[in-house]
Amino acid sequence: AKQSGRCCYKFYQDSMNSKAAARLQLEQDLRQALKSNEIVPFYQPQVCARSGRIVGVEALVRWLPLKGGIIPPDEFIPIAEETGLINELGRLVLEQGCYQAKQWLDSGHSVRMAINVSAHQFRQHDFTQTVAQVLEQSQLPPSLLELELTESVIMSDAEENIARLVELKSLGVSLAVDDFGTGYSSLSYLKRFPIDILKIDRSFMCDVNSALDDVAIVEAILALAESLKLGVIAEGIEYTSQIAILKSSNELLLQGYLFSRPVAAEYIGPLLSQNFTH
Ligand code: C2E
Ligand code: CA
Ligand code: CA
Ligand code: CA
Repeated sequence: AKQSGRCCYKFYQDSMNSKAAARLQLEQDLRQALKSNEIVPFYQPQVCARSGRIVGVEALVRWLPLKGGIIPPDEFIPIAEETGLINELGRLVLEQGCYQAKQWLDSGHSVRMAINVSAHQFRQHDFTQTVAQVLEQSQLPPSLLELELTESVIMSDAEENIARLVELKSLGVSLAVDDFGTGYSSLSYLKRFPIDILKIDRSFMCDVNSALDDVAIVEAILALAESLKLGVIAEGIEYTSQIAILKSSNELLLQGYLFSRPVAAEYIGPLLSQNFTH
């Protein structure tokens, strides 16, 4: 038993070492990728349910290695978070997103740019200044910038975060709660925090053929948003039948593969004059 124990330990140690080595390699590659413009935002349209027009996009980062292929964010955002590279990455996406939205604005299309903000970024003491700086440099009207924060980020240190959120709001940007419904159980923060928009997580997106309880959750979120006067973005819309259950008198935006996958900026331009009737 002792011997096999040692054997297993050795095996464990080897696999630990190779995992650590792979991680270190990934970190180095990511550091390099940030310098060589391999990290780029893609954009996914957010369509106004009423007008069928694209009124916003969410920036979703991609790694396009020089040797080809696409690496999705789930494979490098966690490493970026652990190593602090997320600050540099986040700033890059924020800058490119703002410059892009300004370009669309200059060509006659007012498109709100939604940027994902990670916990690490949000905790930086100068985060508000960074946002202010990027708005200033890009000349994007603050009303066309939206910051997406998850419930867990918002709730991590509620009292301190209220101050941070108020600070950000004072710049004139909008604040959205990402993956709404998947994190915190308490909803009281919605009243106390200067939030503008709820993004209903795609795990709640069901259609007319779904169980009544699934539909009930979506209806409850819509009712909550309505009474708190919050905008709603429904994520993960893949089928027309999912739109039927989304009855809201507030501003309702739809986002999902039904309209478009996240794509490079050049593919968004032509979509901006299109009407997505459903
Ligand atoms: P998220 O913020 O919840 O983004 C929505 C994810 O759902 C995106 O995955 C998007 O491509 C995907 N999606 C959109 N419509 C549909 C649909 O109809 N069906 C399905 N099945 N999926 C859909 P993606 O692009 O792989 O991003 C994954 C996560 O990575 C994001 O989740 C976000 O948490 C993170 N992320 C992406 N870009 C950034 C960034 O610039 N900064 C930070 N901090 N995180 C980012
Ligand atoms: Ca998001
Ligand atoms: Ca989300
Ligand atoms: Ca998510």
